[in-house]
Amino acid sequence: MYDLELIGVGKTYADGTLAVSDFDLRVGRGEFVAFLGPSGCGKSTTLRMIAGFETISRGDIIIKGRNVSDVPPERRPTSMIFQNYALFPHMSVADNIGFGLDVKGLSSAEKKAKVGRIMEMLDLTALAGKKADRLSGGQRQRIALARGLVVEPHILLLDEPLGALDANLRRVIQNELKLLQKDLGITFVFVTHAQSEALGLSDRVVVMNRGRVEQIGTPQEIYGAP
Ligand code: ADP
Ligand code: ADP
Repeated sequence: MYDLELIGVGKTYADGTLAVSDFDLRVGRGEFVAFLGPSGCGKSTTLRMIAGFETISRGDIIIKGRNVSDVPPERRPTSMIFQNYALFPHMSVADNIGFGLDVKGLSSAEKKAKVGRIMEMLDLTALAGKKADRLSGGQRQRIALARGLVVEPHILLLDEPLGALDANLRRVIQNELKLLQKDLGITFVFVTHAQSEALGLSDRVVVMNRGRVEQIGTPQEIYGAP
């Protein structure tokens, strides 16, 4: 069974903008897939449709064999991390990470244990009590990542995960994502307009242009030898 299937997925916005057409994709468990293409080609729209934040105009999205096309975001086994991190600036690091667990009806002890474990994993324990607005870009990126992971998603969706980071931090986070993929077996789908990011991180690249899929393949198939 595939982890994620997009079958003829399309999106036309209310104002008539045709953002995505006939998007077909099958993603296996634990794969790391990049949507690559210029600004405005429909990458974010597709990601938001997978997450459920955007309705689907045509086609279907199947996760683990279940059609989720009409399932609201909070009931999909997905977790989305936004480019601007969307952290609460005045909340502590630990509270920011635990926020997504509040809707899950866990006891505070269970919540603490889960948040503690993920902070450990991402080397954030020493920052637990700090306010989010006191942290560097790389630290905030790790917190956003922790917040996405703490709900134990089946599929993690990332919108330009490395875009706001300098080259050094980019490498650090890139390595972290690779380790998480290995350790947790999570399936990753991320969007980027940077070819280097797609090449460095993904098992397969979906090259998009003007709302259409132009090519799908491994970095090697698309760009030749690494
Ligand atoms: P990308 O992520 O590749 O930059 P988007 O998915 O954001 O592309 O946008 C694809 C197209 O849809 C663009 O033409 C964009 O202007 C348009 N678009 C995005 N969001 C909306 C919206 N809410 N309403 C109308 N058009 C939109
Ligand atoms: P399952 O364990 O059967 O896969 P979940 O526990 O993930 O289902 O489902 C969470 C909630 O989503 C349940 O209340 C279920 O009734 C609801 N649900 C399942 N399928 C759909 C659907 N196609 N549209 C809307 N809600 C759904």
